[in-house]
Amino acid sequence: MHLEFRRRKAEAKRKSDFVPFPPSAFHLPNSVKVMDYDFFMGEALKEAQGALARGDFPVGCVMVHRERIVARGSRTGTRDSGRNELDHAEMAALRQLVSLNAELEPAGVTVFCTMEPCLMCFSALILAGIGEAVFAYEDAMGGGTGCDRSQMKPLYRDSPIRVRPHVRRSESLALFRKFFADPANRYWRGSLLAQYTLGC
Ligand SMILES: [Zn+2]
Repeated sequence: MHLEFRRRKAEAKRKSDFVPFPPSAFHLPNSVKVMDYDFFMGEALKEAQGALARGDFPVGCVMVHRERIVARGSRTGTRDSGRNELDHAEMAALRQLVSLNAELEPAGVTVFCTMEPCLMCFSALILAGIGEAVFAYEDAMGGGTGCDRSQMKPLYRDSPIRVRPHVRRSESLALFRKFFADPANRYWRGSLLAQYTLGC
């Protein structure tokens, strides 16, 4: 009987402690919308598919500010003619962002890349003051986001840029597998990245 009393008392206490979420908790104002990482990476993947269809390395990129895509880019310059290491997807999107002349705060921009940005692109994102870089497939050969910035000069060392890896990784990886499996594509053929990708 004594035990039953204690059980009931404990149950009554649990019930009185229960406070339901106020309805307002489910109605966030527009300014604090939760970023839909999967959706925006899907848009970057569309850019990468476009590059692959042209015979270019399948890297795509979109830049997002307040839940809106403000710039997009895809890799060009990886076919045999006109090959270069400047026309990376992130650089193309950055150029587009600059051309907008928009009064937007770069720290509020999130960049979605289907492959981890290289050192050049990661540095350019830092210099531009971009707030967050999200990528799908890691670049095992030339990725720049994992480097130890603690020994670098203040501009790089103190950048508050956030990095989020592996959003929709497998879909991006599938595009790179297609690229490297096609003998017509010679860019980075036989490289560490090609071996890593085909061995994944
Ligand atoms: Zn790059």
